[in-house]
Amino acid sequence: MSRHTVCAAGLLLAVVVVCVVSGLRFRSMHTEDAIYPDGSLTEHRRLSDYFPALQGSAGDTDVYIFQGEAAGAGLLILGGTHPNEPAGFITTLMLVEKTQVVQGKIVFIPQANHSGFTHNDPFEASPQRFAITTPEGKRWFRYGSRLTNPVHQWPDPALYINPSGQKLAGAEMRNLNRNYPGSRTGGLTQQVAHAVMELMREEGIDVAVDLHEAAPEYPVVNALVFHENSAELAAVTVMGLEMTDLSFRLEESPRNLRGLSHREWGDHAGVFAFLFETANASHGRLKGRPSTALITEGQDQYYVKAARLGLLFVPFDEKGIPLRGRVARHVAALQALLSSWAELYPLKPLEVQGWPSAEAIAAAGVGPFLHPPN
Ligand SMILES: [Zn+2]
Repeated sequence: MSRHTVCAAGLLLAVVVVCVVSGLRFRSMHTEDAIYPDGSLTEHRRLSDYFPALQGSAGDTDVYIFQGEAAGAGLLILGGTHPNEPAGFITTLMLVEKTQVVQGKIVFIPQANHSGFTHNDPFEASPQRFAITTPEGKRWFRYGSRLTNPVHQWPDPALYINPSGQKLAGAEMRNLNRNYPGSRTGGLTQQVAHAVMELMREEGIDVAVDLHEAAPEYPVVNALVFHENSAELAAVTVMGLEMTDLSFRLEESPRNLRGLSHREWGDHAGVFAFLFETANASHGRLKGRPSTALITEGQDQYYVKAARLGLLFVPFDEKGIPLRGRVARHVAALQALLSSWAELYPLKPLEVQGWPSAEAIAAAGVGPFLHPPN
């Protein structure tokens, strides 16, 4: 055998090994994250129950319903609209594992863009997973992409005109938060948005909250975005948070920014619509090397420098902004929203038990409030 043949065979073998390893890693992102709902769960449904065309598709996702003994208001909490914003997903997942509703109803969708959890953003070098340590061991969760997987919705148009007629970059057609109120006949992401709207009608939702994160250099961060129909509820909620050290800025949903949850849910489903944003360095543009520690501990020397230069919209020091602090912030805002609701709408009660306090999460981390790993 000649030297060239040996070299070519070696090269071919190396290519095969790289392809097999990367293919297995790519496939591994299709393994579902485990969620262990609290024993008081009333009904475990799927999003396709509200729009059957989603059945068997990558857009179908779990819906957890907790109905209290007494009737009352309906609250919808969405995580994972953007799967690269882990505080929204983890807050929703933790609450599914810790909720007992006394009066009214709470509906949770922890992975609103289910397809977005099956891949990473190209060129970002983001980890595929991160771990949260519980007293009984680690639980692993996927760190996905802001957009639907192109394997499930392809190709992107050069220009995307969303259901409300706004023109956006083509890839935004795979961004769930630019696709409301959705469409029965559109792409997968538009169908998911349509199914969420159908769920709100069928489940009698009064208040809906979409949990997000944004880069620390983005102006709308540590913010509560509200539809104008929710102004009073938003103001009382933010005033309640001023008493804590987890304050939120108040941002009214712009009327000309279409396709977003806080705009279209209020306009088309008639619910009190909110979006909460916390500050996540792991998907900011100023970050250093991506890592699982950056996702969970939120420490980054370049953000410390940016804060010193006055470039950020939140304080950022060597301690960083860890996941436990971001989840605590979302929980504090949800609890303040429930208190405001009780004050303003006492005839439609919504009472929940079992949620850990924001202080306890900030101090002990999320792990003690999660189900142990199997
Ligand atoms: Zn987001």
